Amino acid sequence: MSKLSVAKFGGTSVANFDAMSLCANIVTNDPNTRVVVLSASAGVTNYLVELANGCEKERRDEILEAVRTIQCNIIDKLAEPSSVRAEIDTVLAHIKSLAESASLATSAALADELICQGEMMSTKIFTQLCKERGYPAVWLDVRELIATDSQFGKAAPNDEKTKAQSDALLKPLIAEGKVAITQGFIGRDEEGKTTTLGRGGSDYSAALLAEVLDADDVLIWTDVPGIYTTDPRVAPAAKRIDTMAFNEAAEMATFGAKVLHPATLLPAVRSNIPVYVGSSKAPEQGGTWVTRDPQPRPTFRAIALRRNQTLVTLSSLSMLHAKGFLANVFAILAKHNISVDVITTSEVSVALTLDKTGSASTGTDLLSPALLEELNDYCHVQVENDLALVAIIGNHLHTQAGVAKRLFHTLENYNIRLISYGASTNNVCTLVKNSEADEIVRSLHAALFE
Ligand code: ADP
Ligand code: ASP
Ligand code: MG
Repeated sequence: MSKLSVAKFGGTSVANFDAMSLCANIVTNDPNTRVVVLSASAGVTNYLVELANGCEKERRDEILEAVRTIQCNIIDKLAEPSSVRAEIDTVLAHIKSLAESASLATSAALADELICQGEMMSTKIFTQLCKERGYPAVWLDVRELIATDSQFGKAAPNDEKTKAQSDALLKPLIAEGKVAITQGFIGRDEEGKTTTLGRGGSDYSAALLAEVLDADDVLIWTDVPGIYTTDPRVAPAAKRIDTMAFNEAAEMATFGAKVLHPATLLPAVRSNIPVYVGSSKAPEQGGTWVTRDPQPRPTFRAIALRRNQTLVTLSSLSMLHAKGFLANVFAILAKHNISVDVITTSEVSVALTLDKTGSASTGTDLLSPALLEELNDYCHVQVENDLALVAIIGNHLHTQAGVAKRLFHTLENYNIRLISYGASTNNVCTLVKNSEADEIVRSLHAALFE
């Protein structure tokens, strides 16, 4: 029996006609790829987020024109552009009217309806491109498949319903020999409203569909030929990792390696589906396979970097509060749906960074006025910005002698604002100045990998 692969192409892979054509080559050359998940063309989601947050008419017109230009530059190069051009015009008119509504009053539901339009456009254009090559491509609205709750901007999938819908709609298409072209990043709630899974969520969509289809693998086609020992844009000496474990890749994604959305590995781990990461621009360069138990497992695997972190230090107003202080702080954070990231504690104070990975597609600030007010009523609150989290990812880090020594030795000239070591066998985290983060990543990379 032939294999079944779900392929996902990111924003830069579908940014223009030439890039899209390379994706079409990959799809049409691989008979196993039966489901294709696309992001919006690069830049489009950022524009739509700006519209969703509400802007003046002049800026709205500017953005609409920019989005139209991105999409029309691709459509103009199609052999038979007329029907898809009409479809994109309809989407653009819809975006215009949603943007007008958002300029009067923003809402999370309206934002998701607006933001999803980027993926709607890229998939319609790509379907036409594949059809022009005589390929049996069928455009599918992924909202018919991926069911979610109603947390607009960071919706959680309903796995059972998604499976039932895929069984009813997607499996028969595949059985007929068709190739489904569909959107990443979006879903639909119980009331029929569009939801999004959070920025970068298309990787997650692909993994979810692979899981419900019982696919053999998920192929993440992006702009780098694999997962590297650190972001190759930050440290050009970074090397590709040919095979790595789910938990290593999950740690990397959680701590900022943008190459995979942090939730991507959840379905892959649950259902043991290998994930491949490769470059759509240079598929011949090979890539990284992420699987359950590849060997060997080196002590140092990679370095991840997450910029623009916020550190919140909370101190008890009086020693009397000290008992139960942490419990109360966590209760307040949980009430506001905040998941704490890296944390250090003393008897009467706690310093923590906020995990933004689950933050909404529109980038709403996690430290809402309501949360700050409640914290301020209870304790002294200090907020520091312009920090970056640098994480060393590896295996058995807390049982190896000399790990801390190498870290401190390499970073002796930098101020480390916070360090977290010992809680996880897979990472050591340091919080440093944003402005020094790149240099620190390069120094650590040189010390540990070069
Ligand atoms: P896509 O639009 O295809 O989803 P992303 O921009 O989300 O692509 O992710 C790819 C980017 O991830 C790369 O261009 C690279 O700069 C960045 N990146 C960060 N860490 C790593 C890493 N360890 N290995 C490879 N790429 C990384
Ligand atoms: N287009 C969405 C974003 O820019 C989803 C994705 O690309 O994965 O975040
Ligand atoms: Mg991405």
